[in-house]
Amino acid sequence: MEKETIRLHRANGEEVTIALAEHAGFCFGVGRALSRTEEAAALYGGKGRKINTCGSLIHNQMVIDELLRKGVGMVHAPEEAEKGSILIVRAHGEPKRFYEAAEERGLTVIDATCPFVQRVQKLAEEATKQGHTVVIVGDPLHPEVIGIKGWSDDRALVVQTPQQAQEIRGKELVIVCQTTIRKELLDGVVEELKKNNTILNIYNTICSATRQRQNACGLLAKESDLMVVIGGCDSSNTKKLYEISKKYCENTYFVEFIEDLPLKEVKKCCKIGVAAGASTPERIIKEVIAAMSEAITKDLTEQVEEMNEMEAMMDEIEKSLRLPGRGEIVTGEIVHVTNDYVVVNLGCKKDGVIPKEEMALEQEGQLTDLFKEGDEIQAKVIKTDDGDGNILLSKKKLQVNEHWDEINAALDDKEVVNVKIVKEVKGGVIATYKEVSGFIPMSQLSDHFVEKADEFIGKVLPVKVSRVDQRRNKAVFSHKAFLAEEKAKKIAEIWDKLSVGDVVEGVVMRFTDYGAFVDIGGLDGLLHISEISWGKLKHPQEALSIGEKINVKILSMNAEKGKISLGLKQNVPEPWSVIDEKYEVGQVITGKVVQIKDYGAFVELEPGLDGLVHISEVAYKRVTNIADEISVGQQVSAKILEIDKERKRISLSIKETLEAPAEDAVEEAAEEAPATEEVPEAAETVEEVPAAEEAAEAVETAETAEEAAEE
Ligand code: SF4
Repeated sequence: MEKETIRLHRANGEEVTIALAEHAGFCFGVGRALSRTEEAAALYGGKGRKINTCGSLIHNQMVIDELLRKGVGMVHAPEEAEKGSILIVRAHGEPKRFYEAAEERGLTVIDATCPFVQRVQKLAEEATKQGHTVVIVGDPLHPEVIGIKGWSDDRALVVQTPQQAQEIRGKELVIVCQTTIRKELLDGVVEELKKNNTILNIYNTICSATRQRQNACGLLAKESDLMVVIGGCDSSNTKKLYEISKKYCENTYFVEFIEDLPLKEVKKCCKIGVAAGASTPERIIKEVIAAMSEAITKDLTEQVEEMNEMEAMMDEIEKSLRLPGRGEIVTGEIVHVTNDYVVVNLGCKKDGVIPKEEMALEQEGQLTDLFKEGDEIQAKVIKTDDGDGNILLSKKKLQVNEHWDEINAALDDKEVVNVKIVKEVKGGVIATYKEVSGFIPMSQLSDHFVEKADEFIGKVLPVKVSRVDQRRNKAVFSHKAFLAEEKAKKIAEIWDKLSVGDVVEGVVMRFTDYGAFVDIGGLDGLLHISEISWGKLKHPQEALSIGEKINVKILSMNAEKGKISLGLKQNVPEPWSVIDEKYEVGQVITGKVVQIKDYGAFVELEPGLDGLVHISEVAYKRVTNIADEISVGQQVSAKILEIDKERKRISLSIKETLEAPAEDAVEEAAEEAPATEEVPEAAETVEEVPAAEEAAEAVETAETAEEAAEE
């Protein structure tokens, strides 16, 4: 982050810069304590209740005087405060016994202890309760250290130097430190303590605010030809800044009041740096800068120019001290992290605070594990003042915006997002995408009819975004559209892979009168009844069953209509094409009677291959009604009399498989038999049925047989 610099010009055109250190003025804890005190003054002042701070709220006399004017006095212990009055605890904190004493006296305590200090107090208290020895690294006379020690029932050992640490031996230690000490001191003390003790825990509770102010002051002093360090003369951290600045810039001045400003020197210098202690209010920094600017520019001959310059200068000051507005998205540097919030330096006079509950939605775990000092972070301004003098920020709200952006992008790009179904409402369900809530109409919940949405509650579903109205916080999703798109993709993939003639595995899904639908990996094809078997079927279930796995051949593909025709019978050769390999004249076969006509019976040798047993070939005796001898469905043995491949006809004889009757029986039968012209000879084919009186019938029969063969 850049330091803030104001550029001015003297009457002779010479440029003068006044730069404010990157970290200057109130730290988080002091700013918060002052805000609480001012609030208390506004709330209770003038209502007859006395208000006091316990000890000096901040090391700045001007601020103390101003508070006094507002009715806020000062005591040094609860016992000094008037009974029933209000007592404010400053950022340094107080020991536990302070609160007990205040209660006994009926005081109303406003606790403005800095949360960073409170954390150290809690650590000391818990470690003491667990029976450990607490070591506080710090100044035993500092009010913060006295306060922390008080939370350990005054049992904690305070160590200010590594030498003092050598005197502690044989203990189980928990180490904490004063928030404003240097890290080197903590390291030196820990090193000594480790030699003779068991270290259970080391808590580095040093606050970065002091270090940041010191580093910024040193850097600025190095490049300035005059430094002004602003702060109360009692403020140890301002004194430290003065020492650091003096080290790099001899021309350093300690300024508590405007009158302390070395204006003569200021007029001579071109690069002026300004640093301010942690208890210096922003208003005083502004006044000091304005006074110096006035001194630099007041020699201008033209009064108008002077006015213009002053206005510009004030603008510059205002700009550099501008606070971000509500709703603004800001980027800053993390300066402190606890498990309850993160403090962010925004480069203006107030720090930003992101409470845990305003952190990223999907982030789980301790804030101290997720963030560290020095990290850059972006957040949205929720309030320009959170009541403690800080800017309230939210990362979560920033993310909600991002989530809407993602939803809008998904709508524009027709992308899929995953939503969680949270509850059923009238006509559909509420589904959430991260922090965005949307609606899925019942008809869009599935690709089949859904009456009740119970089974979907709690589930995560991929959806397409159908509509977004961010202004009214509304989004509409469709799972059905997602399913349809997926199905289309799958079909396209399968379609690409398939070609006419391919044999693929499929599962029989359902029957119709004209065939069966077979799923061939996500796509249904029609297996027409005529393509199931070489034989004749009345219904597909005569050959197939639902769920059966079969290998089918792709007969045709209609991309336009998305239809695929399948064949099953093609998996075996057409019976007539291989008839020579299986059948020959004289062979006795076994087959099923499939049809009976007046002139004979058709026997199925195998599906697609029928033969005719002429009435004269059913038995040796005269048969006038064939149904008296055999019936449809009956298994019979028959001898092949003729195979006519050209006309695709087979003549069979049952009689030939039977034992021939005795000679006289034959004669008897012959006598009973009709005249030669009336009784057909053993016809080799249906067409050879003799003429005579049956000629007409023979013609008719031949036609009927042919039709039957063709059906
Ligand atoms: S220096 Fe740090 S710990 Fe001390 S009051 Fe300021 S913010 Fe709190």
